[in-house]
Amino acid sequence: NSRWSLAGKTALVTGGTRGIGCAVVEELAGLGAVVHTCSRNEAELNQQLQEWSSKGFTVTGSVCDMSSRPQREQLMENVSSLFSGKLNILVNNVGTNYPKPTIEYTPEDYSMIMSTNLESSYHMCQLAHPLLKASGYGSIVFISSVAGLVHTSIGSIYSATKGAMNQLTKNLACEWAVDNIRSNSVAPWVIKTSLIEKLKQIIDGDKFTSDVESRTPLKRLGEANEVSSLVAFLCMPAASYITGQTITVDGGFSVNGF
Ligand code: NDP
Repeated sequence: NSRWSLAGKTALVTGGTRGIGCAVVEELAGLGAVVHTCSRNEAELNQQLQEWSSKGFTVTGSVCDMSSRPQREQLMENVSSLFSGKLNILVNNVGTNYPKPTIEYTPEDYSMIMSTNLESSYHMCQLAHPLLKASGYGSIVFISSVAGLVHTSIGSIYSATKGAMNQLTKNLACEWAVDNIRSNSVAPWVIKTSLIEKLKQIIDGDKFTSDVESRTPLKRLGEANEVSSLVAFLCMPAASYITGQTITVDGGFSVNGF
């Protein structure tokens, strides 16, 4: 049934070599999409591309630092020539975080987190718009965070970028509906990825994990493929009337009042 398939759709997933991005690449490709992805580490990218090809997935990749405007422009040029100017799916996944108390953040921290998380996603939407429109059926998915909905102790700049993404989701949903482009935001809670491993080295990792487990009704951290399934659904014809939404994947965390 084509309502529950991505056969023949073209997709760009930023940051696909690890974690949530990697799960999204595999989910979309497994449902029949042709996927392009990127990361900064060329060796890791090539290794993943080989692995995907051995699994029978159609995935290509470019080395790109998403915090660089010229590199984003180059990436979209690659995508445009690969997919003949037509893109169905843009997943803005790249994001980073350095948790610190607010008064300790430097101007450099601020620019780095803002440009990697928010400015890059904003610019990718601008660059992708003509391709999404040309495809006749476009879907943008932002990988946001529960940290953009409620306070969490993992950094105010990161949270501000995710909160802004949730608003941008609404603006683009309305502004680009005329072009048959939908825009939605997926907000995960703590998912087992390399980003969380890095975070746990900066803060008290064991306390963090047990605090998260005790506050999360399902009493565990999430898996990357528990996020990618929602991303894929939002891109399907089955989700054709869903736009402008921020949907959490959080084991019940954000509705657990006490
Ligand atoms: P990981 O750090 O595990 O993976 C990030 C991926 O993006 C890697 O492939 C990495 O490759 C790539 N990447 C990172 N920075 C850049 C860059 N500047 N340019 C290009 N590629 C880049 O992260 P997660 O999977 O955990 O996170 C993915 C998204 O999900 C982020 O937006 C994050 O904020 C969000 N999220 C994660 C949660 C979690 O608990 N894990 C919870 C809520 C949201 P390389 O380093 O080689 O470039």
